[in-house]
Amino acid sequence: MALMITDECINCDVCEPECPNQAISLGLEFYEIDPDRCTECVGHFDEPQCVQVCPVSCIPVNPQHVEDKESLWAKYRRLQAASVSAG
Ligand code: SF4
Ligand code: SF4
Repeated sequence: MALMITDECINCDVCEPECPNQAISLGLEFYEIDPDRCTECVGHFDEPQCVQVCPVSCIPVNPQHVEDKESLWAKYRRLQAASVSAG
């Protein structure tokens, strides 16, 4: 599953640099997670790093992007391949 950031986000900026997939960016009003880049940290860490650091616990699973571990691993490998080919 990809995760998502809710409107309870206080734009504290601490999650963005923790994401190993560069999936987090500042949106129009608060931070957002790109579901195409969020692997729930699969491939990098045992726990979602953004959830670990968020002071207001506003990062639930995105119900629009429910994926099993196999899909998350596939996404991780796709992102790795893309970053290698991008040099
Ligand atoms: S769970 Fe991991 S990959 Fe997904 S947004 Fe959070 S830090 Fe990034
Ligand atoms: S850590 Fe939580 S409150 Fe801070 S910017 Fe990220 S989602 Fe928003």
